[in-house]
Amino acid sequence: MSVLSTSSIELIARLNRGDVTSVELTEVSLDAITAQDANIRAFLSTNADAAIAQAKAIDERRKAGQPVGKLAGLPIAIKDNMCTLGLKTTCASRILENFVPPYDAGVVEKLKAADAVIVGKTNLDEFAMGSSTENSAFQVTRNPWNLEHTVGGSSGGSAAAVAARMVPLSLGSDTGGSIRQPAGFCGVVGMKPTYGRVSRYGLIAYASSLDQIGPFATDVASAALLLEVISGHDDRDSTSVDRPVPEYSQTVESAPGRLTGLRVGIAREHFVEGLDREVEAAIKQSLDVYRSLGAEIVELSLPHSKYAIATYYLIAASEASSNLARFDGVHYGHRAAKFDNLIDMYSASRGEGFGAEVKRRIMLGTYALSAGYYDAYYLKALKVRRLIRRDFDAAFERCDVLASPIAPTPAFRLGELVNDPLAMYLSDIYTISANLAGIPGLSLCCGLSSNGLPIGLQLLAAPFEEEKLLRAARMFERATDWHTKRPI
Ligand code: GLN
Repeated sequence: MSVLSTSSIELIARLNRGDVTSVELTEVSLDAITAQDANIRAFLSTNADAAIAQAKAIDERRKAGQPVGKLAGLPIAIKDNMCTLGLKTTCASRILENFVPPYDAGVVEKLKAADAVIVGKTNLDEFAMGSSTENSAFQVTRNPWNLEHTVGGSSGGSAAAVAARMVPLSLGSDTGGSIRQPAGFCGVVGMKPTYGRVSRYGLIAYASSLDQIGPFATDVASAALLLEVISGHDDRDSTSVDRPVPEYSQTVESAPGRLTGLRVGIAREHFVEGLDREVEAAIKQSLDVYRSLGAEIVELSLPHSKYAIATYYLIAASEASSNLARFDGVHYGHRAAKFDNLIDMYSASRGEGFGAEVKRRIMLGTYALSAGYYDAYYLKALKVRRLIRRDFDAAFERCDVLASPIAPTPAFRLGELVNDPLAMYLSDIYTISANLAGIPGLSLCCGLSSNGLPIGLQLLAAPFEEEKLLRAARMFERATDWHTKRPI
């Protein structure tokens, strides 16, 4: 079994004791990518030479008795929509195929300052639009548990890289579920923080009012540590919130032996037709685990959740149509070789550069924002968004965390939904409300289906209640052994 099967917390302890070096771990990670990624295809690029050089420098500092950052020389992978200085950042799009950013995203600066070693950039649905990573312009990522199934999306590469133990940690971005859903499909821990908790500076925007960066890890405590490293105020992101960052990696372990007094909410609307029976059974068993730990289960209602998908796909597409205007062959991105005039140049460049799903959303968003339809669609969607947030505010008066499935089914088959965009959108039913409301959410493994695919449990909490969320997840992990299951 690979050393990378160990949790990040334990690997960091070994690094700091001198039992293993950062160069050794980085080599194991790069070798695992060479051995496994021809099948899984999680990585769009690797950064071998620079990673080894960085690891060497960290090892030397440690040897010389100098301070080393919290991530201590651990290898990490980053979704390819976050800018990395000097390292190609493509958004899995032809239009950015050759884009090399002249700066690091805020989170990448923080990773480097914490001595994480960036081994590569991971695959995604083009511009993070999708739920299966099949919308990448370059490759389809396969689920390490079963290569015929999707990894989920859009951060599918980052989820698969951790699930297959090619890296112990990775970063994803979550606009409507893109961290939590692939984490659920791949049996790892994935977390979307509260909107504003983590800087979006240098994250190539899909839908700015929904996007949030977050961690993937094999276990809750390691995810807590990575969240602690990337959180914090950044005045280059005007929506970043200036609040102290708790020591999530410490408080996650401070849970008492039992959860007496914890109220776990379940929403009536989440257990309806369309929910796979095995998924439903696994979630109900998870509730039994919480009950046995002393928690109280509270049934409640989120009455506006039925409007979440329509609301989300209007707002996300509207913001995308505006954000993606900059990729026009002049400001950024691919420029067509042949054109007759300026307009022709724009349309040829965008026509060649963007894939079908991105074009579909730009058209939908442009329509929703156009003068004649703004009030009927976009403005209406903003109002419903507020109602969805109010549902959660009311729910969190009655419970501490909300438990639900992460998706209606375990990982679907490759090709099953990709030609039916509406069915793909509907599969986001459990995740998108959290983005509309700006609240934190986490996904962890709570079962395996009869054909051996992971089932994800989602936990949600009120804004900036990440500590509560992580502790509730950690208690579940302590009481079960799902997190110890491995695909390979
Ligand atoms: N599946 C959703 C979408 O396609 C969510 C994507 C995301 O969170 N980036 O928009």
